[in-house]
Amino acid sequence: MRLLGWLGLLFGLTASLIAPATALDREAFTITRYDLEVRLEPGQQRLGARGKITLRNDSGQPQRVVALQLSSSLNWRSIRVDGKTVQFVSQPYISDIDHTGALSEAIVTLPAEIKPKDSVEVEIGYEGVIPLDGTRLTRIGVPEEIAKHSSWDQISPSFTAVRGAGYVAWYPIMTESADFSEGNSLFEVADRWKARESGSEFKARIVMTDATGEAPRFMICSPGGQRLIGAMDRAQQVSAECSWRRLDAVTPTFAMANYHDQSKPPFYLFSFPGHEAGAATYANALAPAMKFVSEWFGPPSAPVAIADFADPNSAPYESGTLLMASMAAQDSNLAGTNVVHELVHSALPSSRPWVYEGLAHFAEAMYRQQQGGRQAALDLLGRHRAAFLDSEKEVSAALRKNGEQKVVEQKLIGQPLAGTFDETYYRSKAAYVWWMLCDMVGDDALKQAIRKYRAEEDNSKDPKYVEHLIEAAAKRDLGWFFDDWVYQDRGLPDFHVQSAHPWKTENGVQIVTVTLENLGNAGAEVPFTIICEGGEITKRIEVRAKGIATTRVELPGTASEIVVNDGSVPESDLTNNVFKIPASSN
Ligand SMILES: [Zn+2]
Repeated sequence: MRLLGWLGLLFGLTASLIAPATALDREAFTITRYDLEVRLEPGQQRLGARGKITLRNDSGQPQRVVALQLSSSLNWRSIRVDGKTVQFVSQPYISDIDHTGALSEAIVTLPAEIKPKDSVEVEIGYEGVIPLDGTRLTRIGVPEEIAKHSSWDQISPSFTAVRGAGYVAWYPIMTESADFSEGNSLFEVADRWKARESGSEFKARIVMTDATGEAPRFMICSPGGQRLIGAMDRAQQVSAECSWRRLDAVTPTFAMANYHDQSKPPFYLFSFPGHEAGAATYANALAPAMKFVSEWFGPPSAPVAIADFADPNSAPYESGTLLMASMAAQDSNLAGTNVVHELVHSALPSSRPWVYEGLAHFAEAMYRQQQGGRQAALDLLGRHRAAFLDSEKEVSAALRKNGEQKVVEQKLIGQPLAGTFDETYYRSKAAYVWWMLCDMVGDDALKQAIRKYRAEEDNSKDPKYVEHLIEAAAKRDLGWFFDDWVYQDRGLPDFHVQSAHPWKTENGVQIVTVTLENLGNAGAEVPFTIICEGGEITKRIEVRAKGIATTRVELPGTASEIVVNDGSVPESDLTNNVFKIPASSN
């Protein structure tokens, strides 16, 4: 037995040594261009597509075999190169990147080897069904009732909504297997795909024809170009053009239903009958949101859409300029921030996810502040904290273990905000970064910088374009802040009061000398509040990474307590932020 075991081990070892030479590199190619014609038959839940895709070899090796993947409920019909049918083997490939938990993979042998950086155009045809399917969640133990609220993608007569890569591979993708149960594997694979496809051109014309007259009347595509919204015409046909010159972080998504249309272009609003009151909160939110966004970001002009869910428990979803959110309930706060978010996208296009989404989430918090004060805004931001706290704690721990000198070598850990395709970073962390910048430079300077922002100028020529815009408006050096929060991932700060010495001047004025220490590797300007007789005083102080900073504060009475950070700076440890000043020291 033991010998056999060893033989098996040896054999396994030999096989794995040989494997790399012949193994299929599923991520060797990037699909740089999609040009698809998609037909929907909601009655049969069917989707049929044909078109062309362009594959570019982004690996360092010549490649002849490619693995084209679709959702496992779709089947490959034809694959042609240079007008000739090519042979392919179709096989199921287990991967949680699709809602069905598997992909239909076509292993294609190309007529000729494709050299690194070279491209090949492939004509494709595929068809199948897209029913509601929560397999990737139910097989890790999520109850079906709950799974269907987040895995809501489907084609059906009453409601059709299908998200792209990461949810349903309704267009071809090329990825390594992703596993929901294995830590972050699913998100890593999906984010890697997004990053590879960010510069890709995507065009899909989606058409539905119906003779019965009972078919859905509106089709919506996450708007990127013209004809993003289609309404049923006299030929009983509805279509929408989903096109992007570059995808950036967008996931191509389409929806179709018998929607009630309350659009005021460029703001499109679609709701289900029976959700009138909820839809009205959205319609009413438009005017004040428009005013707020115009003032901060300029006039919203590009089309954006908010569409309702048939199932009120469906988890909201946003990609690019399409937001899907239930209008079954009336929540005017939520409607207000959702409309603000989409209008920011309409006013401020950007290819940088941390700018595009980060500013939209920041705007939600600013809008909440305008209506309910700073604490309401911080509560809203606080809901983002958990999203990135764990991964940032890992970064902080790794940096602590390896010492500060090795920070530069820690690049693989964490995600520099500037180039990340990880949603928790470009949405949640970015929202905080913009909020901190605003606290540091003030509303007026930040508004000025934002109004000067041009997506086309924010390219690789000046990688510090955003920093320079804000520095120019604020007349303040922010290089250290951008280094710690945007260009690198240095984890989070960790503030505490190192010491506090109360004393009195000759004239009897009470003063406290406060020294704050930052135990983390990211610096920040942090507010601290001194609680004293007769009230409290809040000041702000810049504490660099691993640094200390001291300041004197004049008080109306005896100080009793110092609280560092009102929640506006994300910190790795919030348990050491309250400092009691011993009564004897006063
Ligand atoms: Zn957004």
